[in-house]
Amino acid sequence: MAHTITLIPGDGTGPELVTEARRCIEATGVAIDWEIVDAGTEVYEKTGVPLPREAIDSIEKNRIVLKGPVTTPAGTGYRSVNVQIRQHFDLFACVRPCKTIRGFRCSVENADLVIIRENTEDLYAGIEFRESEEITHHLIEFIKKSLHKDIPYDSGITIKSISRSATQRITEFAFHYACENNRKKVTVVTKANIMKFTDGLFFEEAQQCASGYPQIEIEHLLIDNLCYQLVSAPQKFDILLAPNLYGDIISDLCAALVGGLGIVPSANIGKDCAMFEAVHGSAPQYTGQNLMNPCALTLAGVMMLRYIGELAAADCLQNAVESVLREGRYVTRDLNPHAHVGTSEMADRIIYYLKGGRCS
Ligand code: NAD
Repeated sequence: MAHTITLIPGDGTGPELVTEARRCIEATGVAIDWEIVDAGTEVYEKTGVPLPREAIDSIEKNRIVLKGPVTTPAGTGYRSVNVQIRQHFDLFACVRPCKTIRGFRCSVENADLVIIRENTEDLYAGIEFRESEEITHHLIEFIKKSLHKDIPYDSGITIKSISRSATQRITEFAFHYACENNRKKVTVVTKANIMKFTDGLFFEEAQQCASGYPQIEIEHLLIDNLCYQLVSAPQKFDILLAPNLYGDIISDLCAALVGGLGIVPSANIGKDCAMFEAVHGSAPQYTGQNLMNPCALTLAGVMMLRYIGELAAADCLQNAVESVLREGRYVTRDLNPHAHVGTSEMADRIIYYLKGGRCS
């Protein structure tokens, strides 16, 4: 029986990447009925709503989503579609594997780490107070009276909140993931020396959770130290467990280490619902130019195939992507500027390897 999956093409370079990733996924032979729904800036311009009801209903029904990147205009009131979906469907765990591929040239060797990012709270919760509004001044007054701390009246304020319950959930997810995937160490990433009541709580809960998993080593690193060590020796790390914002930032750093944003996928997982996407954004300046690397979204498709139990197809597609990367000739310009290969030609090459394998 075919799997019914919600497909959100996104905006900017999203639709062209989704087209190619979809071709690659379909070439595995797995039967999928795609339910295509729009979200992002283009539908916002037409309807005034970036995440229409139709998209929410489709995810509600199918519980599995493959999503192209969507633009979030900076400095406006526009709420990120990504954050809205993660919060609405409580997709609390973001999983981002970053692994070097043997034979594929990148800046480091033998790195194999997985970022597990808390996906629902922290500075991403969207609790913001605009500069100079009355409510902001009330908050500033309240903080002054209760904490004896001065905040300039012309400040904007974003609230960072980290709850014990959400932290318990993500730490349990990370240690369970470590066991299930034969991982040995969880590095908890915080700035707990400065933010004692939020990051401190996060670390405390992780320590508590670790006591139930004696076979998994736990270490704690401050985010600044982690960045230094990641760039110097990423091989030392296994699972990186981080609150939302740090998890987001180190994802791009780790992507750069293992070959770039063009090849790193991401899964957003909840209790009974999951969304798969690339780590990268919509890179709108390249829209319609057939320049973007389709691997990140195709590998998100691999994670999706594993999630729906299509393990053999997932392995075949992953092998095909890795073969194309190792070969290095039919790759987009982020990986080889001399190759003059576009998004669709790189996808063709993935399918070529796929058909040569056992999935055809
Ligand atoms: P971006 O990830 O879109 O692009 C940064 C740069 O990385 C690009 O200029 C390009 O040089 C390179 N790059 C990214 N993906 C690539 C690919 N597949 N192939 C080749 N090169 C690639 O980041 P940005 O420019 O900061 O963000 C653009 C928009 O995307 C913003 O509105 C942002 O909010 C949004 N965004 C969306 C998501 C998402 O949908 N999950 C994630 C991150 C950012």
